[in-house]
Amino acid sequence: MTSTLDENIALVLHKIDDLRLEPFPVSEPKDGEVLIEMQSVGICGSDVHYWKWGAIGDFIVRAPMVLGHESSGKVIKVGPNVKNLKEGDRVTIEPGVPCRRCDFCKTGRYNLCPDVVFLATPPVHGSIARYHTHAADFCFKLPDHVSYEEGAFCEPLSVGVHACRRAGVTIGSKVLITGAGPIGLVSMLAAKAMGADTVIMTDISQSRLDFAKKIGASHVILADKDAQKTAQIVIETLGCMPNISIECSGAESSIQTTFYGTISGGVVVLVGLGRPLASLPIVNAAVREIDIRGVFRYANCYPAALSLIASGRIDVKPLITHRFKINESVQAFEMAESGQAIKVMIQCGNEVQH
Ligand code: NAD
Ligand code: ZN
Repeated sequence: MTSTLDENIALVLHKIDDLRLEPFPVSEPKDGEVLIEMQSVGICGSDVHYWKWGAIGDFIVRAPMVLGHESSGKVIKVGPNVKNLKEGDRVTIEPGVPCRRCDFCKTGRYNLCPDVVFLATPPVHGSIARYHTHAADFCFKLPDHVSYEEGAFCEPLSVGVHACRRAGVTIGSKVLITGAGPIGLVSMLAAKAMGADTVIMTDISQSRLDFAKKIGASHVILADKDAQKTAQIVIETLGCMPNISIECSGAESSIQTTFYGTISGGVVVLVGLGRPLASLPIVNAAVREIDIRGVFRYANCYPAALSLIASGRIDVKPLITHRFKINESVQAFEMAESGQAIKVMIQCGNEVQH
């Protein structure tokens, strides 16, 4: 062990409601890996969920686990056979490393790889730490003018890019996005960057809708409890039915709204993950040939997300509402849980973050 590795600390979830910043081992970079001095890590809803509930579906925290997977940092050591990076490179870290050998990996849909190792998904440790070792081919070099925080934002933005690609968003698309949390917001930004003509968003929180409008949503609508009524308001506001709906809340009534609201022959993509079973107007969707498509994270989206940020076509900075140092990580999680923040960033290193 070098002195650097000895100094590592990480934010470890021991059990529900028990987060501790403590010394943590980190491995020397092996073949194809790099050792990264972590800089910015964003807090995702899933990190908060593991902290408060100890599980997401079948992923159960059974042993202490480091949280965090929206991250960027500086390469400080390069393992054998790394060709794409060198010491000193600033990188954004794609958190899911697949097997690279199965049919899903070979056909490019590596997000579906059954053996993917994804940061902060039990039992895999995450990246809220001073140091982290990662596969070099899942690190992307940041241009000088892209900040570490923007680098970390490539993670949620990749979800938005993938959702829009799955939906077939293109020039002139009229898009409904239900849910104006961070994922709904990045999907809206991605849809506009990919040429959407109009993006209309719903939420049950007026403050979230006000924020969405401020950063570029064409229209915002407070969702009614009655899904059909919400769909009707969407159609009246747009003057037509959206041809694409991107569901980003996981709420049953909201999924219903996307089914009722989308034009015949259109596409609904399901990003939000709510209860495992939902009651949906499935015959309505069937007889109107609505294509219903799933979304699981992303594949091959980091380069596009990074280029959208680097070129200025997407500005993610307004979404970063709170910042904390790594030693204030528990307060950072409390802020993320409060619902007052859009994106909370943890500063793990000492370099300029934004
Ligand atoms: P979030 O909780 O911050 O945002 C959800 C938003 O939906 C909130 O603003 C909430 O007020 C709103 N909402 C709740 N009920 C609603 C309703 N009936 N109608 C309209 N809006 C409603 O979460 P987030 O981080 O933005 O993530 C959104 C969803 O996407 C979550 O379910 C998350 O698990 C899921 N997610 C899925 C993937 C994937 O790969 N499929 C990746 C990341 C996140
Ligand atoms: Zn695979």
